[in-house]
Amino acid sequence: MKFSLKTAVILLLMLLFIFNIVGCSDEDKYEKTVFLMDTKVDITILGNGMSNKQYVNLANEIETEMKLLESIFSSHITGSDIERINKAAGQEAVKVSPETVFVLQKALEVAEMSGGAFDPTVAPLLDLWGFGTGEYGVPAQNDLEEVLPLVNYREVEIDEASSTVFLPQPGMKIDLGGIAKGYIVDRGLKIADDSSASALFINAGGDISIAGKKPSGEMWRIAIQDPLESKKLTAVLDVEEGSIATSGDYQRFFEAGGEKYHHIIDPKTGYPATGVSSVSILAPDTITADALSTAVFVLGLEDGMELLERLDGVEGVIIDKQGKIYASSGLADDLKIVD
Ligand code: AMP
Ligand code: MG
Repeated sequence: MKFSLKTAVILLLMLLFIFNIVGCSDEDKYEKTVFLMDTKVDITILGNGMSNKQYVNLANEIETEMKLLESIFSSHITGSDIERINKAAGQEAVKVSPETVFVLQKALEVAEMSGGAFDPTVAPLLDLWGFGTGEYGVPAQNDLEEVLPLVNYREVEIDEASSTVFLPQPGMKIDLGGIAKGYIVDRGLKIADDSSASALFINAGGDISIAGKKPSGEMWRIAIQDPLESKKLTAVLDVEEGSIATSGDYQRFFEAGGEKYHHIIDPKTGYPATGVSSVSILAPDTITADALSTAVFVLGLEDGMELLERLDGVEGVIIDKQGKIYASSGLADDLKIVD
């Protein structure tokens, strides 16, 4: 059979059209990208028959909720809970929202279980390195030694009944960068839970949270980036539901004197943690995954893996400086290494 060029083009167009329709019915979804906490956040809603208006409304509702929380937690936003707590350090307790009390309590819990590797009072060190101020540079040793005594999560005073927080030493400062994003994503997810959407997928700069199953019944496939080579994947994880957060030395860093200095600081030394390249944590909620990924990153391979094995319902993948991949014992069947 011979087709004229015109027939061939029409056939091709028809094929494309059919493919498109099939594609649409298979993928009844809506995607929206927003910017929060210096991070690109991709929201994907699987609607199962939701109208476009329902999609748009739900995505807007999620965005509004997440932005509102950002304005509570960000230390850079004047009048935010964290900014006010920090400003009143050494002076007085500050009245905050219940959300701040919740996230700070969780931060202190993770600080305790990680022996202070995770510490929400790490902000004075972050400022010295420039991660809080944007003026990057390697601090002088005596400057580091001066602020190290200000970094101590045990001194944070939370009064749940009156919903107040007090930092007793002048100069103490809280930063929730290692945990707040996780909580914000969880709250976005909660809104979708209460809606008619069948599933929701939020990717906040690698902190991924999934509610609901894929309509096809397949597992969600999450890729873990190769920390040594951007744009290359090193492993994939098949998960049904839950959250994955990744902390990596490639996510935020500056270079000085031929050395790279990244944003996750070991509160014991005052220097960026040196043990591993990346840590991905799988947990039932994003706040846990987020805080633990930062904590395990600071703890390093041995102590980090020991913490993961001790915790129920939490698994993790640690990639060392040479790119070698280590998975916690519960992940053996779900993790596929990409060659
Ligand atoms: P993540 O990307 O979740 O690992 O979070 C990194 C962010 O956590 C940094 O940008 C800081 O805001 C904050 N951070 C850095 N070091 C620590 C630490 N030792 N404990 C708690 N938060 C930290
Ligand atoms: Mg984190």
